[in-house]
Amino acid sequence: MYVAQIYSIILLSFGAAAFYLGISAARKRFRDYAGNAILGLLCFSSSVWCYGFGLVFLTADPRVAYWGRTLGMIGVFGYLIIVQILVGVLGTMPTKLYRFFCAFAFLGLIIYFPTVSPDVTVYYMEEAGMTYTFKPGLISNVYTVYSLIFAINMIISISCMIKNAKNRREKVTGNRMGITLIIVFVGMILDTILPMFGFGAIPGSSITQFLGLLVIYYAIVDLNKTRITPMNMSQYIYRSVSEPVMVFDTEGILRLSNKAADDIFSETFAKYEDKTLRITDFFALDKGYLDYEGNHRVDDTNSVIGDIPVQIQTSRIADGFGDLIGFIITVKDMTHINEIMDSLVEAKKLAEANSLAKSTFLANMSHEIRTPLNAIVGFSELLLKSDISDEDREQVDDIRNSSHNLLAIINDILDISKIESGKMELNEINYNIADVIKDAYLITETLAKAKGLKFSMDIDENIPAKLYGDPVRVRGILVNILNNAVKYTKFGSVRLEGKVKENDGDMSVLEFKVIDTGIGIKVDDKEKLFESFLRVDKKSNSGIEGTGLGLAIVKGFVELMGGSVDVESTYNVGTTFTVTIPQKIVENVPMGNILVKFESTSKSSIGAVKFPGVKVLAVDDNKVNLKVITKILKQYEMEAESADSGLAAIELCKTKEYDIILMDQMMPGMDGVEAMNHIRELGGYYASGKCLIVALTANAITGVKEQLIGEGFDGYLSKPINFVELEELLSNR
Ligand code: ADP
Repeated sequence: MYVAQIYSIILLSFGAAAFYLGISAARKRFRDYAGNAILGLLCFSSSVWCYGFGLVFLTADPRVAYWGRTLGMIGVFGYLIIVQILVGVLGTMPTKLYRFFCAFAFLGLIIYFPTVSPDVTVYYMEEAGMTYTFKPGLISNVYTVYSLIFAINMIISISCMIKNAKNRREKVTGNRMGITLIIVFVGMILDTILPMFGFGAIPGSSITQFLGLLVIYYAIVDLNKTRITPMNMSQYIYRSVSEPVMVFDTEGILRLSNKAADDIFSETFAKYEDKTLRITDFFALDKGYLDYEGNHRVDDTNSVIGDIPVQIQTSRIADGFGDLIGFIITVKDMTHINEIMDSLVEAKKLAEANSLAKSTFLANMSHEIRTPLNAIVGFSELLLKSDISDEDREQVDDIRNSSHNLLAIINDILDISKIESGKMELNEINYNIADVIKDAYLITETLAKAKGLKFSMDIDENIPAKLYGDPVRVRGILVNILNNAVKYTKFGSVRLEGKVKENDGDMSVLEFKVIDTGIGIKVDDKEKLFESFLRVDKKSNSGIEGTGLGLAIVKGFVELMGGSVDVESTYNVGTTFTVTIPQKIVENVPMGNILVKFESTSKSSIGAVKFPGVKVLAVDDNKVNLKVITKILKQYEMEAESADSGLAAIELCKTKEYDIILMDQMMPGMDGVEAMNHIRELGGYYASGKCLIVALTANAITGVKEQLIGEGFDGYLSKPINFVELEELLSNR
């Protein structure tokens, strides 16, 4: 075998390798980068170069050698042109210069033809095998000049690339291109320059161009790594993500851990050094932890060393066959989150405690204020019933009215706190709308008349007579708006209009308008009107009493009923409040003409109905209250007795059968509930349910009524006693 043939085998192997590299460079995942496509072409040129010259040195026939070189030269010129293009793609150089160099490189396409003409080269066999020399002349000179100029262009291009490099990546790539250039030129001396001087060609550049190609290939593969691809990004994520990531095999042995995991478990790693580490060395977990159903599981646990609270997410990893090869665990340090959670729990507890304290305060306050008020209202009612002088009557009437006002304020404060805490509930029953409108009208009429205002109403006769809803709240809404209209009107009139806006047989939408000729509301103030404790236009309002709660309560009630409230006003001219309230219809017959009676309200109506002979026991620790209650009961011609404690009441019940027991809820020692239970336990008459035990309570907080009934009371009366409620209770007995 000739030495040339050994060259040839080397070249043919390189050709195959270059071809393979070309295919892989052109593969799909690299396609989005122009450098890869050019690299592919470079590999194919290199392959043609290797195969062509491989053929030259393989054969003993000069004609075959000629065709080998003719083929190989395609690879040579292709390689040169592509390298020149590649330099511009990989680096930065002046555009014009780059275009000029590329154009020069492309001259190779023209020079190729004369270069491969049979007259230019001579092929012959020598001791080492096939070789060739160039015949001196123009063509070989042109080829030499082309090669030299190309070499200079490349030196300039690569220098530009290194000099203009915008980052380390470009600089390193430039250096690598420089190495390629040197390697290729060393080879060229052997097979291009030597034959020019009459020496036989050694296929040096054919070999070194392949080595140069390897350098370029490596440089571009390196560049590919700097671009974002799923492959390299998963590495970055694994290495640099701040969350600890650990991979365990199917036996639960640690195989990989990222830096964050190494940091958080540094003590564990230090303690066990080179020992095999299992999942249970890191986390406080059961041995069978990894035998779970499904793909993922999330668990709260603690690290074994350091007792750090962590949340771990475990996911199965399967190989290409779908078989389980391990588990990947991401770890979340919960120390900070737990601290936040703890502080939130604390804050919630505090808020609940505060809210409870507020409710308790409201309940106590209402109890404390209502108890003496009970006495004041009760006694003034009684005094008004008795024979007193007109002057005294006037004063007592004032006392009664003032205490009613005070009661109204307390009720307002309780209402708004219930509305704002979302605890307000409607007490819905069947009711006559005419009565509600009449009540509201009568309540405000006195005030309007006293101010000399024209007070009137126009109520549509077609409003359905009987509705289902909360009459007390509907009346409250109307009274509030009518009261305001009267309060904020100095001269002129206040008018109530009511009509039915919609009626589909089941539901009706009522619309009430209260129109006044009062001080009016400024446009800017309109929005603030419905805020609690807020009074607007204090200058004009000075001297008019108010808490700023009325409209907030109205809005709260109206919205609870699913309706709306609106205001139109012209400052200093007058205001119109419009309220719409949807209500269920019970009897869809028109309510007819509303009859308004103008009765004096200064006479108490206590005892208008009589309940002679009914035996009642009033139980209350407050002696004044007891006195009031028993006196009132006597007005109804009932047989009233009293007990100032639960125990005293039980003793009385042992000797007598009462029809009704009015039991104060809050008493020192034995409270109302206990006393009631003891009385029921007396058995006989008291176990038969014939005696009504009714709770008396000053506690007006939502839910108290239900609570008392739940505890076994037959009824409930709030203090101060509402006589209408008392009469209703007695009549329904
Ligand atoms: P207040 O207890 O002050 O009357 P409201 O909530 O009922 O509280 O009303 C809030 C404010 O709205 C009042 O202070 C008043 O300035 C204004 N306002 C309410 N109704 C009228 C009205 N009919 N005419 C003029 N201003 C009104």
